[in-house]
Amino acid sequence: MKIAVPRETKADEPRIPLIPGDVGKLVKMGAEVVVEAGVGATVGLADSEYTDAGATVGGDYAATIQGADMVLRLNTPNADEIAGLTAGMIHVSHLDPFFNQPLVEQMAHGNVKTICMELIPRTTLAQKMDALSSQASLAGYAAVVLAADRLSKGFPMMMTPAGTLSPSRAFIVGAGVAGLQAIATAKRMGARVEAFDTRPVVAEQVQSLGAKFVKIDIGDTGQTEGGYAKQLTPEQIAMQQKGMAKICAYSDVIVSTAKVFGRKPPLIITEEMVAGMSAGSVIVDMAASEHGGNVAGTKLNEEIVTDNGVHIVGYDNLPGTVALHASQMYSSNLMNFIQHFWDEEAKELKLDTEDEIMAGALVTNDGAVTSEMLQKAYAGN
Ligand code: NAD
Repeated sequence: MKIAVPRETKADEPRIPLIPGDVGKLVKMGAEVVVEAGVGATVGLADSEYTDAGATVGGDYAATIQGADMVLRLNTPNADEIAGLTAGMIHVSHLDPFFNQPLVEQMAHGNVKTICMELIPRTTLAQKMDALSSQASLAGYAAVVLAADRLSKGFPMMMTPAGTLSPSRAFIVGAGVAGLQAIATAKRMGARVEAFDTRPVVAEQVQSLGAKFVKIDIGDTGQTEGGYAKQLTPEQIAMQQKGMAKICAYSDVIVSTAKVFGRKPPLIITEEMVAGMSAGSVIVDMAASEHGGNVAGTKLNEEIVTDNGVHIVGYDNLPGTVALHASQMYSSNLMNFIQHFWDEEAKELKLDTEDEIMAGALVTNDGAVTSEMLQKAYAGN
């Protein structure tokens, strides 16, 4: 099987899909690997490291994917890149599929067999392939490091001959994968940490990291079968905002990670709540994306300072700030996926839809959108 790894073309993307160590593993498994020239340049990996691992170096995108059976990418391909794919090719990448119906349909019409990294089921067996988790975890760490850098206070309590400094207070909104890593990082750095999530089941995990779980009664919230938060009603959001306003007001740092799978993120921190915060405090809106964010005033991929001196950070590629580690993790997610479905005799990826991981992740096949979840979403249900 010939596997092609083109360069990432999304603006300001330093992460890469595959590192040389994993190229070596693929070659040992019997695959032929072609990488586009300069594929690892953004994280300091030279083409020679890929050739040493057994890959060949292709020219541009078209030359790299020419004759490939499978293409490995990190970001959603654009329409021109999809147009360059040949019928029957397997394409593996993120897709942001709920918001990219035209691109997913283009893949289907082009008869591409599309594996969507976001739709790998969040099961125990698939944990090692779960790119949403690997990237979110690094993002949670990066958000806190960034907040610490922007804050004009330190995080830990310090007792010095010149006086005692009280610890900074961090409030983490949403305690999923990113939020829990943010809590752990802020705790390690010495902050006093509080967290809130609409899924009460996470309270124990928050407490086990040494943070305080904030209790706000917003009625029945529950979670989906997949363990995701359900969308709140406007009344519930209002109750949450009321319960959070006081905590926001005294927090030095807020890291907001609240997302609802397949939908726009809820706007939780209002202008009024930001106005109640002290000058110099920092909010990192980790839900910031082209689909909105958790914080009023967030500007995508910008840092702004409000009239009352609150710093709001809206970067949507926080894993990119630790690009080498993020690439290592993503590459490992891809490898674990490929190894799970590798047919050792035929030396190719088996698209075994009897396996629930493949059934979830294979979103287009034989000219159609095959994911039930996407079919429903595209039909507006
Ligand atoms: P996510 O990125 O969709 O959401 C982040 C967090 O925001 C979630 O914890 C969610 O409950 C929370 N949230 C949503 N609306 C909110 C609101 N209004 N206020 C406060 N918080 C709000 O979720 P995620 O981090 O990708 O993971 C979701 C769940 O899936 C987690 O419970 C995680 O443990 C689970 N998971 C399981 C596996 C596995 O078993 N293999 C792997 C990864 C994740």
